[in-house]
Amino acid sequence: MSSYYDDNFGWYDIEDEDDVSFYHQMQAESVLKICNGCGRKVKLRRQYGYCNSCANAIEMGMDVG
Ligand SMILES: [Zn+2]
Repeated sequence: MSSYYDDNFGWYDIEDEDDVSFYHQMQAESVLKICNGCGRKVKLRRQYGYCNSCANAIEMGMDVG
């Protein structure tokens, strides 16, 4: 099992070959952009405006950005 990091979803453990392909697909679809929340340079899918940690904070009802 390996751990992979992705700015869209954060850390995740992957065992399955299919999931590794999914991870690479996510990375391929991601572009370097500035997160609307923390202002960090992150690799996100085009339709995403926030990195994983900001998205989590927003989910918990915190005021981000
Ligand atoms: Zn952020």
